[in-house]
Amino acid sequence: MERLSLPPADAWRPVRTVLGDIPYESLGITDAHNHVWIDPVPGADPAAPVLDQYCQIRDEIKLYREAGGASLLDCQPGGCGRNGNKLAELSDAAGVNIIACTGFHRQRYYAPQHWLFGASCERAAEFFARELSSALDETADRPKPVRAGFIKIALESAWDDTPQAALEGATAAAQQTGAMVEIHTEKGGLAEKVAIFFEDHGVSPTHLVLCHMDKRPDPGLHAELARFGAILEYDTFYRPKYQPESRLWTLIGQMVEAGLSDHVALATDMAESAMYATIGNGPGLASLPGEIKHRLAGLGISERSIQQMLGGNIARRLAGLD
Ligand SMILES: [Zn+2]
Repeated sequence: MERLSLPPADAWRPVRTVLGDIPYESLGITDAHNHVWIDPVPGADPAAPVLDQYCQIRDEIKLYREAGGASLLDCQPGGCGRNGNKLAELSDAAGVNIIACTGFHRQRYYAPQHWLFGASCERAAEFFARELSSALDETADRPKPVRAGFIKIALESAWDDTPQAALEGATAAAQQTGAMVEIHTEKGGLAEKVAIFFEDHGVSPTHLVLCHMDKRPDPGLHAELARFGAILEYDTFYRPKYQPESRLWTLIGQMVEAGLSDHVALATDMAESAMYATIGNGPGLASLPGEIKHRLAGLGISERSIQQMLGGNIARRLAGLD
């Protein structure tokens, strides 16, 4: 992998990992959207995924590292199973940079009446900003608290079902802190609406990552969103129901061909333990730096475009560049 040349120090800020701040150029291969710990959440949807087998997860992350992975973004916000203490322990034990998030997931992953969904926009914003600047709630008592490195929010299928105060709180926290925002979309739905919503609330699309967009493989839309400034995250490599062979892989080729590999971030989003190699005999976290990278190279995609899609783009966005 070619080394990125650093812009002047005042143009970027360090990436906030669970073990402390590091320069963005040291992130290496980075999974832009994954899950390495989810505590069970009493009262949540019983079908919600749980990832709490410490030794297997640690070994899975080690396999990721051995395959060439250096960093990953954990996309579980607080209140729906995130455990910042475990994330710090896993990062330390497996030797991979983990970047945790604040924000909110879909409401089905929380206990009923979770406080955040009844909170005002101001209170939500204050909470997100505090997790970014001082401590994840559950790590506040540690001698060295863990801090969030980005904001992750989730859209429901319908805009009006998405909690509006929390959504506005996320725009305010992003504006105040300059943090990157990853946005879960339901199969790519509402992506254009949310990008405009953030811009109307003072947050440039150059701070946004729109997730699961390969479930809506419309190359014209993707090109437009990329030119608007958003990063598009793709992650259905091992989800046959989304026909990755004909959709995702074609889309990657189209984006590279259009010169837009600088606006694509690849991930494997393995919240279900069955997808882990160490737990479910699945493809596992190592597939991104392994099989997927290998296949990208085999398609004749340039080293530079591969580097961008496998970490370079997300690293720059975390650092507030672009
Ligand atoms: Zn996810």
